[in-house]
Amino acid sequence: MSLELSNVTLTYPDGDGVVTALDRVSVRVAPGEVTAVVGPSGSGKSSLLAVAATLIRPDSGTVRVGGTDTLGLRPRETAELRLAEVGIVFQQPNLISSLTAVEQLVVTGHMRSRPVREARASAMETLAAVGLSGKEHRRPHQLSGGERQRVNIARALAGRPSALLVDEPTAALDHDRGARVMELVGEATRTFGVATLLVTHDTEHLGAAGRVLEMRDGRLGAPAPA
Ligand code: ADP
Ligand code: MG
Repeated sequence: MSLELSNVTLTYPDGDGVVTALDRVSVRVAPGEVTAVVGPSGSGKSSLLAVAATLIRPDSGTVRVGGTDTLGLRPRETAELRLAEVGIVFQQPNLISSLTAVEQLVVTGHMRSRPVREARASAMETLAAVGLSGKEHRRPHQLSGGERQRVNIARALAGRPSALLVDEPTAALDHDRGARVMELVGEATRTFGVATLLVTHDTEHLGAAGRVLEMRDGRLGAPAPA
């Protein structure tokens, strides 16, 4: 199921006026594909992810996640859809220090409604898919920075969402680790068939992206030639 934003406009109040964070933005991300959005700070990247994640309602336009037109939903239905269909990877892993890798996945809301044994089996499978076999029972401090980022990605995929939204995944990492995290996002996208929208101001590691778009002052388009 794809992720599709069409003609989305988002403004924030700003004094007596408004600031336009997204200006008639349209983008469609197919399952198994990474679309990267690059752009300077303040261009609207995080706003784009928040709208795609159904965390912010735009002023106008449509947002389809996993085949559902989300703007027609009630708040409670929106929350349920988000839990079932959207995986979010924030820049900082924000793992719980007392929990093992497998527990980080099991405690997410995505899996709370499932029997514990089933949730654990699915969590083990997800961790294996991101290359963490044998490390499922380690706590965050027993993992490397790159491994914690893998747990972060696995946690976002634990509920088998149709869309994966990734905000600046390489910002806190050095060059090699950044490159590996981007590769991992690409692999996980193919393995799980998710529609991945990744935003970054880092133009160095875009090889894993099937498509790169550029955000400028809230407008999304083809990147300017280098
Ligand atoms: P980026 O992630 O590319 O840095 P953002 O989406 O965070 O861009 O911001 C886009 C624009 O919207 C900027 O002008 C920013 O100042 C403004 N903005 C973002 N969030 C808010 C908010 N909660 N209230 C008011 N203005 C905001
Ligand atoms: Mg941002």
